[in-house]
Amino acid sequence: MKIYIDGKFYDKENAKVSVFDHGLLYGDGVFEGIRFYNGRVFRLDEHIRRLFDSACAIAMTIPMTPAEVTEATLETIRQNGLTDGYIRLVVTRGVGDLGLNPKLCPKPSIIIIASKITLYSEDKYRDGLAMATCATRRVSHGAFSPMVKSLNYLNNILAKLEALHAGAGEGLLLNEQGYVAECTGDNIFLVRDGIVRTPHFAAGALAGVTRAAVFDLAAELGIRIEEPLLTRYDVYTADECFLTGTAAEIIPAVSLDGRPIGTGKPGPVTEKFIAAFRKLVATTGTPIA
Ligand code: PMP
Repeated sequence: MKIYIDGKFYDKENAKVSVFDHGLLYGDGVFEGIRFYNGRVFRLDEHIRRLFDSACAIAMTIPMTPAEVTEATLETIRQNGLTDGYIRLVVTRGVGDLGLNPKLCPKPSIIIIASKITLYSEDKYRDGLAMATCATRRVSHGAFSPMVKSLNYLNNILAKLEALHAGAGEGLLLNEQGYVAECTGDNIFLVRDGIVRTPHFAAGALAGVTRAAVFDLAAELGIRIEEPLLTRYDVYTADECFLTGTAAEIIPAVSLDGRPIGTGKPGPVTEKFIAAFRKLVATTGTPIA
């Protein structure tokens, strides 16, 4: 495995960062998870754009242009001889001293890892995931924007632990007001009477790249999609529910807090989106070669 760090490639055992890197000391940095299929990177421009937006929001200047980061990403995949897999693109604040002050970190570090990811087992895609509502609330816009894909994932990790302790595969995160925000690592979609609904960004949803792809597919399939305020009641009473994320792709969710959603089995609208998404990822994207 060849790992990119600041313009050079290293073997896995030599791919190291400083203990003074603020990404490690404070979670000060941003990242992207990107997927490539069949020799093409899915929605690469959208991921690079979100990476630069996240960096902008935390006042960090990435010392490369978007085009250069794009090329470094493609080159990392080439160096590893892969056609299908997952990329972790990380930008840390870089090396500083033991204080918080990011102004004492002269240069952000860029790390690119190309590998594989399996988030959920095959049976979960067939039978659906169980969800549990987390007591931990999604971080509020007033505390730290949930739009930023930062290296600070403790909010999500603690919520995920709650879900696992409850025996569920994924956790539902509500915002401070009690409205549905998203899941710990995925966006959430509900289907009721043929209409698809998903939380708005203002409610605490990340601007998921897969979420955006679902909007495009809905337009193609002629399915109405809305972004209203949603509560747990809307999840309990939905006909269908599915989750989206780069690693998860589109996965059915069939229960929340022990209550089956709809029939308690993956529904027809969810299956339609899964099929359309598989076709989309196999036929579009930035060529690696
Ligand atoms: N929400 C959160 C909190 C996430 O971490 C992610 C990505 N893993 C998503 C939603 C889904 O975003 P995307 O489709 O861009 O992967």
